[in-house]
Amino acid sequence: MKTIGLIGGMSWESTIPYYQIINNTVKETLGGLHSAKIILYSVEFDEIEKCQASGEWSKSGEILGDAAVKLEKAGADFILICTNTMHKVAPQIQSMISIPVIHIADATADALQEAGIKKVALLGTRYTMQQDFYKQKLINRGFEVLIPEDSAIEEVNRIIFEELCVGKICDKSRDYYSKVIDTLKQNGAEAVILGCTEIGLLVSQEDSSLPIFDTTLIHAQKATELALKN
Ligand code: GLU
Repeated sequence: MKTIGLIGGMSWESTIPYYQIINNTVKETLGGLHSAKIILYSVEFDEIEKCQASGEWSKSGEILGDAAVKLEKAGADFILICTNTMHKVAPQIQSMISIPVIHIADATADALQEAGIKKVALLGTRYTMQQDFYKQKLINRGFEVLIPEDSAIEEVNRIIFEELCVGKICDKSRDYYSKVIDTLKQNGAEAVILGCTEIGLLVSQEDSSLPIFDTTLIHAQKATELALKN
């Protein structure tokens, strides 16, 4: 079994499901007392969020790259960055280590392709929805990507940082996400990517009129698959 390196803490609320999903998947696959080999480097999210807000992406890349170097030295075979947004600096992180970074958008694209989806809605932070680093990966794989209108982008983003990242789960916000998903469905989306690792804490399949692709679940399951592969 390979050792999974997690760069977590962005936010730590969403790192907990990574740990649970990976171990549950190993348990379902191997049974008995089997569990995953995981090394977690959990960062101070306030530092990272400040870099995002001030546009100091390369500074945040150095912090996460430093974590990745430590994970490699500690014996990780590959790395997961446990947030969609910080994949903006995935190339910078990858350049600092010799083990692979398993990209969350690649794993998600594989899952969408397997399900035969072509036109997909994307929910996440404003960085993930508006900038190219994530969407372009999907477009390059042949998907059409729909995002909400500007006012909904702001509210979806606000709920992530002001509620989900601090462990607040509100019914009103869940209803809001459901309505945003309804609109994206009306606009032709066939599925919705929960492209922020906290959204799955709020929205389940029963809250969504579109099939959901939860990036936390997809990414964590991909890691387990790789860890168990010969
Ligand atoms: N976990 C979130 C994501 O998947 C948001 C927190 C962050 O900005 O890293 O994008």
